[in-house]
Amino acid sequence: MRIVSVKQGVVPISSAIANAYIDFSKMTASVVAITVEAEGGRRATGFGFNSNGRYAQPGLLAERFVPRLQEVGELPALPDGGFDPAPAWAAMMKNEKPGGHGERSVAVGVLDMALWDATAKLAGKPLWRLLADRFNGGAADDTAWIYAAGGYYYPGKDEAALVEEMKRYLGLGYSVVKMKIGGAPGTSIEAALKEDLGRIEAVLKLLGGDGSRLCVDVNGRFDLKAAILYGEAIEPYGLRWYEEPMDPLDYSNHAALAEHYRGPLATGENLFSMIDARNLIRHGGLRADRDILQFDPALSYGLVEYLRTLDMLRLHGWSPRRCVPHGGHQFALNIAVGLGLGGNESYPEVFAPFGGFADETPVTDSRIRMPDAPGIGFERKNDLYAVLKPLL
Ligand SMILES: [Mg+2]
Repeated sequence: MRIVSVKQGVVPISSAIANAYIDFSKMTASVVAITVEAEGGRRATGFGFNSNGRYAQPGLLAERFVPRLQEVGELPALPDGGFDPAPAWAAMMKNEKPGGHGERSVAVGVLDMALWDATAKLAGKPLWRLLADRFNGGAADDTAWIYAAGGYYYPGKDEAALVEEMKRYLGLGYSVVKMKIGGAPGTSIEAALKEDLGRIEAVLKLLGGDGSRLCVDVNGRFDLKAAILYGEAIEPYGLRWYEEPMDPLDYSNHAALAEHYRGPLATGENLFSMIDARNLIRHGGLRADRDILQFDPALSYGLVEYLRTLDMLRLHGWSPRRCVPHGGHQFALNIAVGLGLGGNESYPEVFAPFGGFADETPVTDSRIRMPDAPGIGFERKNDLYAVLKPLL
């Protein structure tokens, strides 16, 4: 099999929302299309994009990663009718030094996603089925657990508007929701905490007081002192998880927080390699019986690298069920179902058209069934396919 063409573009993924650290008004995404030809002239085109939170990477793609991918000769065919993307991944990473991953992991992740979409299409299978067959003894989950991520800060948005937003998610079939905290502008940490406790209690009231149905996300803004202060205040609520409380690369601070906060912690969406993930597991003090790992394959060198991360986790006594990837995209959803992860993020109202899943897959009690279309399923999501199709 051989790569026939690689095309790339840049599209906006902007919105007026903000978390505690950045606003998303200037956010962009790279989109790519890779066409692969098999024996006998059979062709498939795979699509890829980067999920929200990192910007488009047209320079890295054009200067290094697309040319290297185009130089790949033969892609090894596999008995299922597809090919193995790992050698193409190795070719893309030729002449890249270790460490300092920066945003090249985003550029490689975009191309890796498209390669997996193409190999599943050539095999005539949905990606989740291909992954289950290749890596999981054929076992796939019937449905994936997903939760509605939102609760962003927005100019003029008050508690009532926050509760209305969460109500809409419940109406869409989600039973677990996530909201941002720690982002009140220009206030002391004590004043921000007071305001956030009011916001949390308003949402909890909607959820019947059940803390296991609510996650809170700080987006890495706190120092250790603030993280502990907030942790002590929210622990009695018994929340589903307390997400990215501090800088994601400060592992010893996480270890210190894990000694104070007994509830589940979640982090990892801004760690972009297996090695970074391993450092978190080695030094972050996280607990394999309760904490949640949110590495996003689209931002962190793709699935070839994510498979290494899952292997590393098993070696350290962590189940794949502790992984709930960031990003709310169909790529991670396929991986969750095919490789037995704990679930996937979902953005019902933001990051369109990249957030969200196939059009005809309703959410019931925070679970979703996968479509049976070959590949990742982009063709089953009309607004997203409308953005990808011009690449053809
Ligand atoms: Mg987050």
